[in-house]
Amino acid sequence: MEADRNPFKVVVVTGVPGVGKTTVLEHLARMAQQRGLKLKVVNFGDYMLETALKEGIVRSRDELRRLPLRRQLALQTLAASRMVEDASRELGERDFLVVDTHALVKTPSGYLPGLPFNVIEKLKPDMIVVVEAEPEVVAERQARDRGRFRADIGGVEGVRELMEQARVAAIASAVRYASTVLIVNNREGAPEEAALRILEALGGLQP
Ligand code: ATP
Ligand code: AMP
Ligand code: MG
Repeated sequence: MEADRNPFKVVVVTGVPGVGKTTVLEHLARMAQQRGLKLKVVNFGDYMLETALKEGIVRSRDELRRLPLRRQLALQTLAASRMVEDASRELGERDFLVVDTHALVKTPSGYLPGLPFNVIEKLKPDMIVVVEAEPEVVAERQARDRGRFRADIGGVEGVRELMEQARVAAIASAVRYASTVLIVNNREGAPEEAALRILEALGGLQP
């Protein structure tokens, strides 16, 4: 019996804010193109933000996690449906959808799962990647990146706690569709190394 999957392969990339997911995935997209692999990278937050901006309830992406929880849940569910719909129009069986997102979102009311059942039942991930780096290093990256607001993550100690719990959340989300969980270190100054590690792992998803 075939496993319950989307026609295209789905790789969900997670990690605490500022660890470098978006940066690593820029490298991954370029490397995949060089190898003739069709790989579409989408950002989950972009999908949520598009709707939230239209509704006039936020001005920037870092405000999403401070919205009322049921608003976040509604945006999350809609985002998952839309990205799979979009991907279905573009991607075939040999292609990859790579989703830049979070296993756990730090809200003022506690940690919100980024990949609960309403999301997982749409994405049906083949693989969940957890991008990590030392908490001290992540805090430095956050501080350097002036274009984003991540002070609410709580510095080194906030990052450490979120990282620990986010790893567990990734494993929990992997259970429903037997997704593999790949933990990847995003070493300082070498995001292309992390991208290459993910690219190698994609090989295991090919026939
Ligand atoms: P968010 O979840 O908030 O979107 P993110 O995980 O996507 O965060 P990025 O925006 O990719 O994080 O990276 C945060 C900052 O860290 C950026 O300034 C980026 O240039 C830098 N950065 C990312 N990876 C590395 C690396 N390996 N070495 C040095 N700097 C890095
Ligand atoms: P990012 O640019 O990846 O940090 O995404 C911006 C924001 O989108 C995050 O800070 C979250 O508020 C929200 N977001 C992204 N992915 C998810 C998800 N899977 N579930 C809930 N919120 C998410
Ligand atoms: Mg990002």
